[in-house]
Amino acid sequence: MSRVYNFSAGPSMLPEEVLKKAAAEMLDYEGCGQSVMEMSHRSKTFDKIIKDAESLFRELMNIPDNYKVLFLQGGASTQFASIPMNFMNKNNKADFIITGQWAKKAYQEAARYGEARVVASSADKTFSYIPKTTADDFDKDADYVYICMNNTIYGTKFASLPEVGDIPLIADISSMFLSEPIDVSKFAVVYGGAQKNIAPAGLTVVIIREDMLGNAMDITPTMLNYQVMADNDSLYNTPPCYTIYICKLVLEWIKDQGGIEAVYANNCKKAKILYDFLDNSKMFNSTVATEDRSLMNVPFVTGNEELDAKFVKEATAAGFVNLKGHRSFGGMRASIYNAMQIYGVEKLVAFMAEFEAANS
Ligand SMILES: *Cc1c(COP(=O)(O)O)cnc(C)c1O
Repeated sequence: MSRVYNFSAGPSMLPEEVLKKAAAEMLDYEGCGQSVMEMSHRSKTFDKIIKDAESLFRELMNIPDNYKVLFLQGGASTQFASIPMNFMNKNNKADFIITGQWAKKAYQEAARYGEARVVASSADKTFSYIPKTTADDFDKDADYVYICMNNTIYGTKFASLPEVGDIPLIADISSMFLSEPIDVSKFAVVYGGAQKNIAPAGLTVVIIREDMLGNAMDITPTMLNYQVMADNDSLYNTPPCYTIYICKLVLEWIKDQGGIEAVYANNCKKAKILYDFLDNSKMFNSTVATEDRSLMNVPFVTGNEELDAKFVKEATAAGFVNLKGHRSFGGMRASIYNAMQIYGVEKLVAFMAEFEAANS
């Protein structure tokens, strides 16, 4: 068996230890004679899995007690509708910072349910930076301010949070979940799809401060009502059981690594190796303002589309896969989530140096 170096933006690679454990437990989970895929979501065995996953989230992310941790479906994209339906509930308006496609989609969806306002955008420079804002830019009557904290496609990240005063701050953290310490208490809601850094596709984790709950619009479908999901401990209907189980294994793996601080230190090393190379290369260039660079998603270009394509082709043949940039952006992108080891990035950089030498 040979595994590739997988730089997919999502669904993305998982830690090998997790895959091996899942394989070993596939036919018989902890002596119960069934796979987690086959058991009732109301069983004692599954109840322990989902409760363990929740408590690991709380422990690793230091989630305050007045926050709910929900295990939902529908991906991040479903939350683009759930968020306005649940939270545009006082003045029916919300403020958005547009830093890429995902923020834009969230904004467009919210605009269907209330007054969505763009406070700042980096569309003018192909989302290659994070726009600066001050407290005065936001509408004091906004029900919330919405950001996408790490922009998977463009490779930017909010290095610091916008000053929003007392307005609840809601953030899509899909592609940076569990990759670095974040202070959950600064947010009203953080959420993300699992397939970037937590588990296979099918699970969306939503962390909500309790006072935000209970005022959903009347039109809100039951399945999108966070209060209903919170009241039922994410078991109103059948949850994505197997994905929640893999999520639990990943959380245990993070704990084994030394927790989020340790994983973060590793992520900083990986990102530095890659950015240092890009900053010194005469062929490959980073597309992102230095101070706004993501630790997880690193887009780069040669400036020549044919050369980009040649690079992706040769990299793939050499076992470095999923390096093609997003279909809307082109170029290349290396996603270096938690599961990517330092040596994977070192190997990639060595390959890029060889390619540069051979093609210049
Ligand atoms: C991938 C991604 C999404 C979309 O997630 P789905 O689960 O496919 O709906 C939204 N936001 C961010 C930041 C993403 O990276």
